[in-house]
Amino acid sequence: MEIITRVAEMQARASAAKKNGQSIALVPTMGFLHQGHLSLMQEGRRRADLLVASVFVNPTQFGPQEDFASYPRDLQRDAELAAGAGVDWLFVPEVDDMYPQGFATAVTVSGLTEVLCGASRPAHFQGVTTVVCKLFGIVQPQVALFGRKDFQQLAVIRRMTLDLNLPVEIIGLPTVREPDGLAMSSRNAYLSAAERRQAPALIDALRLASAAVKTGERNVERVLALVRNRIDREPDAVIDYAAICNGTTLQAVPEVDGDSVLLLAVRIGRTRLIDNHTLFEEVDIP
Ligand code: AMP
Repeated sequence: MEIITRVAEMQARASAAKKNGQSIALVPTMGFLHQGHLSLMQEGRRRADLLVASVFVNPTQFGPQEDFASYPRDLQRDAELAAGAGVDWLFVPEVDDMYPQGFATAVTVSGLTEVLCGASRPAHFQGVTTVVCKLFGIVQPQVALFGRKDFQQLAVIRRMTLDLNLPVEIIGLPTVREPDGLAMSSRNAYLSAAERRQAPALIDALRLASAAVKTGERNVERVLALVRNRIDREPDAVIDYAAICNGTTLQAVPEVDGDSVLLLAVRIGRTRLIDNHTLFEEVDIP
């Protein structure tokens, strides 16, 4: 595996590979890799001749009071894990090279980005779509892989790719979890031992909701009440949102149906955790 740090070099390498008829898969990440990221890389490995993963803590998707400066970083460990997952090129650009002086463009997806995480993180998705669009231009992948853990992000990226006719197939993959069901996340590293013990409340709440729907409950308020009661049992947990939405439009639904997704964002201490589950999914939450 090679580490490529310059934008121009990454783009030249990708162009040359494409000229040679090689296909490229891209896994964008902010690093501090875990098994969730590695599952995307392993699938990317199967889907293209060349596998590129990016590690870039993108400043434009963090709000002014958010954790850009403290976001966990460990490039050496990331490089070892990425190499083990079959990555050919690990793209690790500098902020100044991605956003040079005079940078003036933003990609905005409206509607989908104003609800849920977008309501409490106003500039977040514009930062995400702009950087993902740039990465698509630099790495020129045929396929890009994202986790369904960030359900809204995946919906927004699908919308952007469709709307801008970007020639990239977007693949969404299942959430990888810790043995107790907590969705893996680089931010889990922020949790104290006491907070970590409270974090499985999210998966418990999703399970309670799924079980209720399985036995015929369709009333959104009653399902959400189960969710809120479970989260509220934890002393340090504060719900940012708990919503049942259509999986494509992300609009709240009046009644649970086959396209409904339950989305959760919960602060435990200073750590904001998100999780979700499609309520009619055949597969049970592990
Ligand atoms: P991040 O480094 O948090 O920006 O995430 C990079 C990619 O990994 C995104 O597509 C995420 O949705 C995905 N991802 C993060 N956590 C998980 C997880 N637990 N399971 C599957 N994919 C994940």
